[in-house]
Amino acid sequence: MKIAVSNRDGLDKLVQAVVRGEMRLHALPKYLSAAERAEIRRQFLEEISGETLKHVGTHSLDTERASGRHCENFVGVAQIPLGVTGPLRVRGRDRDQSIYVPLATTEGALLASINRGCSAIRAAGGVVSRVEDVGMTRAPVFRTGGIAESEDFVTWVEANHDRIREVAEGTSRFCKLKEIRPTIMGSTVYLRFRFATGDAMGMNMATIACDRVVRNLIYPETGIECVALSGNQCVDKKPAAINFLEGRGKRIHCEVRLSAEVLRKNLKVNRDAFVDMQYRKNLLGSIAAGALGFNAHYANIVAAFFIATGQDVAHVGEGSMGVTMIEPIEDGGALFSIMMPDVPLGTVGGGTALDTQREALSLLDVDPDPAQPGAATMRLAEILGGIVLAGELSLLAAITSGDLTSAHERLARGVDTDKQGPRP
Ligand code: ADP
Repeated sequence: MKIAVSNRDGLDKLVQAVVRGEMRLHALPKYLSAAERAEIRRQFLEEISGETLKHVGTHSLDTERASGRHCENFVGVAQIPLGVTGPLRVRGRDRDQSIYVPLATTEGALLASINRGCSAIRAAGGVVSRVEDVGMTRAPVFRTGGIAESEDFVTWVEANHDRIREVAEGTSRFCKLKEIRPTIMGSTVYLRFRFATGDAMGMNMATIACDRVVRNLIYPETGIECVALSGNQCVDKKPAAINFLEGRGKRIHCEVRLSAEVLRKNLKVNRDAFVDMQYRKNLLGSIAAGALGFNAHYANIVAAFFIATGQDVAHVGEGSMGVTMIEPIEDGGALFSIMMPDVPLGTVGGGTALDTQREALSLLDVDPDPAQPGAATMRLAEILGGIVLAGELSLLAAITSGDLTSAHERLARGVDTDKQGPRP
């Protein structure tokens, strides 16, 4: 049945067909545009719920692209407020630049607090940021007949490393095999592949490379069966000790040298109280909890940054592991540093292609350069580390000086923060 949709009547007939169960939401006719299919779904939902979806349906997204590549059964958008923090001075490996950092969040007081951190960082001469391109991991799991066959299989993998590399790297010019780490557990073998993936976060790239290696080389030549391309030892989207220790995606290191004056004037903290609070809260407290995040709130900033710049938000779990360190230095100052071992990040692919997210990446001046694959994402990681440090610094200072609750009451309980002006 082909129903003309050039008029409202045509659309209504299709909505009624969905309501009657004659047509499925995900199988609306292909001759409709993506916008028309989204409208039919919204009208269907409005009809069965009695609610209106005016805001969900109002947006500037490229509907064909959003529904075709990013979200099935597309009905519209979930809007999240976007604000800006900074300027943040990031002293990276190649660039020393002050920038405004866009963050998307619903958490009142977060950006105001990060701004205070940016201001302290400016007064301290900038945040030093360094990134290791640790690489994206994928660990297929294989079933063997027992430990002798497992051992033979690992020996075969090691002997055929160059052939495996050739097949894996043949899937993309940006994909470079860094290592294959085998783990034997009786009749189960994990091969933990690690790839450099240029400017892409790399999860698809690594999965495709592993799939080709398994199908075209490992299975035909060894007969060893791959049970799952992701054997969970990758470890993707779950905080884990192996990622903490060996790293995944980008490993980020940032530091700022805070003078006694900056501690007193900008952060309003006593240096020794600051160091003591960090030790008892972030370090001992995390040990007491068995946590993998020896920090106060990386997840707040990582989530807001990931949404604004089109990263895979499910990576916030692993991306917010890390250690905050505060150590006393000369003349009453403190060296404040952070280490984030497992940050999957990209400037191409996935949600980075969405228009609002592309604009955010452009604000950060990290558009990929074909002449230097990987450099844009390394810079993005330098910036993320810097803004995480700003947020961590400000919150820990507020906890130390005891003004955290009053800041939340002022900023997150309905006071207009635009009119309020910056925090003292
Ligand atoms: P991911 O692997 O991060 O999940 P995609 O599957 O979208 O993301 O892979 C990234 C895509 O972008 C690949 O098709 C790759 O060829 C392309 N690409 C273009 N420029 C680059 C670049 N500079 N670095 C990495 N990939 C790039």
